[in-house]
Amino acid sequence: MHDVKGSLLESLTLADARRRRRLNRLLRKMARLDPVPPSGLSPRRRAMAAVLLLVLLLVGVWRLGLTGEDRAGFPDRPADAQARPIGNPPSQEVTSTAFDFLQTQPGSSEPVTYDPCAPIHLVVDPRTMVDKGMRMLEEAADEIRAATGLSLVVDGLTDTGASPGRTATSADGSTWTPVLVSWTDPDATPRLGGMTAGYAGSTAVERDGHRWYVTGVVMLDGPQIQQTLATDGWTAARSVLMHELGHLVGLGHVDARGQLMQPTRESGLDAWGDGDRAGLAAVGRGRCIDY
Ligand SMILES: [Zn+2]
Repeated sequence: MHDVKGSLLESLTLADARRRRRLNRLLRKMARLDPVPPSGLSPRRRAMAAVLLLVLLLVGVWRLGLTGEDRAGFPDRPADAQARPIGNPPSQEVTSTAFDFLQTQPGSSEPVTYDPCAPIHLVVDPRTMVDKGMRMLEEAADEIRAATGLSLVVDGLTDTGASPGRTATSADGSTWTPVLVSWTDPDATPRLGGMTAGYAGSTAVERDGHRWYVTGVVMLDGPQIQQTLATDGWTAARSVLMHELGHLVGLGHVDARGQLMQPTRESGLDAWGDGDRAGLAAVGRGRCIDY
């Protein structure tokens, strides 16, 4: 959450496309004129700058239903699991600490991660999907694959949305439930109200004191991302998906400019920053599940 007054947020939320374009022009001008980060400004100017410079991506993290531990039994080893990690994150030339993990291992600062030896399967509920949304998702997934070494596989479409009763394993317990990417809207998903363009998170299971993410949910506000696409362009809209997939694989928010994992979208930023890359590499180096 950030500190912009609700009324200001609301006025931006309700702005029509023309007004948004005007704001964006103003924003670019301000960014050129005044590179001082918002924290260096007076409270009033800070609030104004926050409205102009930042678009809220997400309030908080996924804390409903799916987060936390699920101590249910492990299914059989997935048929497409490998003996070794399928890919590897790139080695880091720049060491940055501008990242945070959503969860860490019990008694340790090591992150909870997905199993790098098995693909992460995703299914897509396309109800409010933007134009070329599957391509946008694949491109965002590519950015995650390249930065983590994790294997994300988009299996296809589903007409089943998120439900609080979603479990980590299939009904017969034989497989992990695929990650659900749901293109939805604030009417169906009230947490997407206001400027929240999406939220995401994964479910951890634990065995012998070690935890792994095994499935998750990515909820996207289709109408809002469509508006971002129309006013700010493809890479800006795609960066929203990158941010949410960053949460999916285990990154939390970080208050550091230049990072896509900031809680608010930084104008003109549509690629991973050094901190994002360091964090993504770390969540790509998890332990494989020993089935
Ligand atoms: Zn976020």
